[in-house]
Amino acid sequence: MLKRLAVLGFPVAHSLSPVMHTAALRELSLADEWSYDAITVRPEDFETVVRSLPEAGYVGVNVTIPHKEAALGIASVASERARAIGAANMLSFEAGSIEAENTDAPGLIAALNEPAAGRPALVLGAGGAARAAAWALADAGAAVRVWSRTPRRTEALAADLQVRPLESEASRGSLPVGHFEILVNATPVGLQAPDQEGDDLKALHLDADSLTGQHLVVDLAYGAEETELVRVARRAGATAVDGRDILVRQGAVSLQIWTGREPPLKTMREAIKVRQSEERSGGF
Ligand code: NAP
Repeated sequence: MLKRLAVLGFPVAHSLSPVMHTAALRELSLADEWSYDAITVRPEDFETVVRSLPEAGYVGVNVTIPHKEAALGIASVASERARAIGAANMLSFEAGSIEAENTDAPGLIAALNEPAAGRPALVLGAGGAARAAAWALADAGAAVRVWSRTPRRTEALAADLQVRPLESEASRGSLPVGHFEILVNATPVGLQAPDQEGDDLKALHLDADSLTGQHLVVDLAYGAEETELVRVARRAGATAVDGRDILVRQGAVSLQIWTGREPPLKTMREAIKVRQSEERSGGF
């Protein structure tokens, strides 16, 4: 019987996960045994839909906005990582049980391609993605600070994950990024191209001149083109990790767990590039 996988989200139609995973399954000669599709699931239907999936042949799913907390909530078993982060982006169905995992965190660390241990890191944002990033970096040994535009949320995240908030006074001017080596944008700023050059940096309280060749900048947000943050960081000589690479890496960790095979990263990246160029030319 076909082993089915899917991504659940609301909305999910434009998710790049199906094209990325399908290309990987083909490359691994697993496309006759495994499939990967996208299922639109409203928040109120999440639990019912998830519980019906094993019977329909699904062995696992990735979940995206807005279901990551609910996914952890309905799991029978959750990894320590998913519990610590408070969110799961992967569910596996095993003999009547639902197992939750978070692969956003190891995906981020894999995408860095450099060690994080002992390095000062600043995470921007205080939502689910920021929690995964802050947890992952702290677990990898980085000295993590977090900042978001809502101090109450920043402080809650910092307290939960035992990392340090960057004091709210910082939000009045530009953030002191010179003190950090790793900078992660875990806000939606960058999902859409800015109306005016500089708008995204302004929203993130970043000053282009403070980015240097010493920085490793990770932007979780991605669109059809490079984000302003990635563009400015590269221009400053910084190493920049694109949100599409994080997407590939979290997907690769999930696929590796499900199939036990080494995912073909290059094929996955290429599939995303092709789909985005088709979208730009109006094919989708
Ligand atoms: P979320 O839970 O809604 O949290 C968003 C965070 O960003 C909050 O702290 C929010 O602050 C802040 N924020 C929102 N709009 C902002 C703005 N205009 N200026 C400054 N801060 C702003 O979202 P999430 O689930 O953490 O996801 C965040 C981003 O990460 C999304 O864009 C998502 O696409 C991306 N992501 C990418 C990957 C990947 O694989 N590349 C994986 C996961 C997530 P307030 O609380 O003040 O609103």
